[in-house]
Amino acid sequence: MEQRVIYKGRTALITGASSGIGAAFAAELAARGCDVVLVARREARLKDLAADLERTHGVQAHVVVADLSRSDAPGAVHAATRDLGVHVDVLVNNAGFGGYGPFSGADAGRDQDMVMVNVAAPVALTHRFLPAMVSRGDGIVINVSSAAAFQPLPYQVVYAASKAFLQSFSEGLWAENQHTGVRVVACAPAATDTEYFEVVGNDREARFGAMRPASGVVTATLDALDRGAVHTVIGLRWKLTALLPRLLSRAAMARMTERMTRPQG
Ligand code: NAP
Repeated sequence: MEQRVIYKGRTALITGASSGIGAAFAAELAARGCDVVLVARREARLKDLAADLERTHGVQAHVVVADLSRSDAPGAVHAATRDLGVHVDVLVNNAGFGGYGPFSGADAGRDQDMVMVNVAAPVALTHRFLPAMVSRGDGIVINVSSAAAFQPLPYQVVYAASKAFLQSFSEGLWAENQHTGVRVVACAPAATDTEYFEVVGNDREARFGAMRPASGVVTATLDALDRGAVHTVIGLRWKLTALLPRLLSRAAMARMTERMTRPQG
């Protein structure tokens, strides 16, 4: 049953708010009257966005600088919210990055950081913020997964596996919290117009299809929360693609994506 979420007067903590989808979440939630806590490494970007959101929407916008590849970062972020005197009603696990190329040639340290940011940090932050939401009988957790979550992606193996983890984690939490008053949703964008592919360092083989705007990812996700949906895949083409693994064997799926993403030349 559809029940619209009221964001006014609540506080949202958004990881990866210094650009792209995270910044778009911050802007939309602030426009709906939500105070925000902006988390990422690039402090100047976060401060500029915070000032802009306070000026434009009259909300409170806090900045917490954190490198989520560090195992102590989620604890430090949680402590920072306590020091600020805010309780977090909406947790947006959005920070993340990918890579491209055969695993055998990949930088092991970068892949380790990817697992920390894309997997370990969302788990640790959810550990820290979810119990208070359950106690209050009210809260929201949004996990920014990916269309890559639904099948293996050769040449992006760690990234796709990290998003498969986050998707499964999110769906399990959604079911556990059906009667706690806490809503959980995973959003699975495909190619979105952000700095993502710049960070990947590949905009040819790593990307499929036309770019969509980050704002569309955000509104689709907030609509999904209103519906109580377990997840939303952004775009009809990707909704259908996410169903393919139910029709094809795992080997056929992996071979198909290998052909699609194989390095050219
Ligand atoms: P983006 O513009 O590159 O933004 C990534 C954000 O993550 C930045 O704010 C970055 O902030 C933050 N981040 C990266 N490493 C971090 C670290 N070690 N510690 C703290 N924050 C870190 O890319 P985006 O597309 O908006 O990505 C947002 C999410 O969407 C990611 O989880 C991504 O996997 C997912 N996604 C993106 C696409 C796409 O096509 N764009 C498609 C599917 C899923 P700092 O650099 O300032 O730390």
